[in-house]
Amino acid sequence: MPKKVLVIAEQRDGKLRQVALEALGAARAIADGGSIVSVVIGSQVKDAAAELAQHPQDKVIAIEGESLANYDSEHYYLALRPVLDEVQPDVVVLGHTASGRDLAPKISAALDAPQVSDVVSLDVQSGDVLFKRPIYAGKAFETKRVLSTPYVVTVRPNNLAADTEQGGSAEVDVRAFDEPADVKTRVVNVQKKASTGRDLTEARVVVSGGRGVKSAEGFKPLYELAEVLDAAVGASRAACDAGYCDYSLQIGQTGKVVTPDVYIACGISGAIQHLAGMSQSKLIIAINKDAEAPIFEIADYGVVGDLFEIVPKLTEKLREK
Ligand code: FAD
Repeated sequence: MPKKVLVIAEQRDGKLRQVALEALGAARAIADGGSIVSVVIGSQVKDAAAELAQHPQDKVIAIEGESLANYDSEHYYLALRPVLDEVQPDVVVLGHTASGRDLAPKISAALDAPQVSDVVSLDVQSGDVLFKRPIYAGKAFETKRVLSTPYVVTVRPNNLAADTEQGGSAEVDVRAFDEPADVKTRVVNVQKKASTGRDLTEARVVVSGGRGVKSAEGFKPLYELAEVLDAAVGASRAACDAGYCDYSLQIGQTGKVVTPDVYIACGISGAIQHLAGMSQSKLIIAINKDAEAPIFEIADYGVVGDLFEIVPKLTEKLREK
C-alpha cells in the first residue's frame, strides 16, 4: 500500500552522510509508490538539501539555524516538530547513528508510534514490509512487521543500498529556525577530538587492533596498513582500556557498530562483546597468533601468526600494487 514517508537526512559539517542516502533508499522501498519528503537540519544545509533533491522525491526541506550547528535532541526535535505536523507521515526513516538513536525515540513518543530500530535489511512483499534486525548483541536476528501506522524506522549504516535514483527536481524549501525563548537546554561548547581519519561507521574497510597490539606505538603498523587501504582504524575495548588508542575507536557492544566490506582484526581474541560491533562485516580477516582464538570461528580468512610480522608485510605487498 502506498505510504507517506518522511526521511530525516543526516548531515555532518553541511555534507550529506552516506546513511542519509541509505535511509532514502529504504524510504523508497517502504513508500511503495507513495510520497517521500526529506528533511535536513543544521546550520548551513542548503547545499546538502540541493544534493538530496537530485534524488526523485516530492519535497526536500532544509531547516537552518545557528542553534542547530551541533546536534542536540531538544533543538532538532523543535525544528522537526512542525514538519511532523505538516507531513503527517505514515513512516519516519532515519539512520541508526549516534544522533539518530537519540532522536528516533523522541519522534516515536511524539507520534505515539512504534519503532523498529537498527534495521539491517528489509523485504517488501506485496506492499508488506518485513524488517530484519539483530537482537542479543548480534547473536540472532528477528524479522518484524509493523501492523499499524505511523511508525519509526532506524537503519544501520552501511547495510542497506544507498538510493541511486537520479534526475529529481524536487522543490527545496529552506526554512529558518529561531530558537524559542523557553528552550530548556543549549549546547554552549563542543570540544572535538583530533580526527583519527576516516569515519569508522561509514568506512568500507576497517583495520582494527586489540590487546595483542600491545601499545600505542604498536598501532603504527595498523595505521600504515589503513592508509594503503583507505581504511578507518578501530579497536577492541581492551586496547582502549589499556590506553593504546582513543575510546572513539572502540568497536563492540559498548562501542561503535561497523559493517564494512572488509574488517581486519589484528590481535583481537573475538569476545562476544566485540563481535556485537563487527560480526555483520561482509568479509572478516583475522590475524592472531593463537590458532584457538574465537575470532577464527567467524573469520572468512585467518592468519595464525604474529601481527607485527604479518601486518607490515601485507602493507608492503599492497604498496607494490
Ligand atoms: P584479548 O581478549 O586479551 O585478546 C588479545 C588477542 O591478541 C589474543 O587472542 C592473543 O592471542 C592475540 N595476540 C597477542 N599478541 C599477538 C601478536 N603479537 N600477534 C597476533 N595476535 C596476538 N570489548 C570490545 O571490544 N568492545 C566492546 O564494546 C566491549 N563491551 C563490553 C561490555 C561489557 C559489559 C563487558 C563485560 C565487556 C565488554 N568488552 C568489549 C570486553 C570484552 O569482553 C573483551 O574483554 C575484549 O573485547 C577483549 O579485547 P581483545 O580481544 O583486544 O583482548
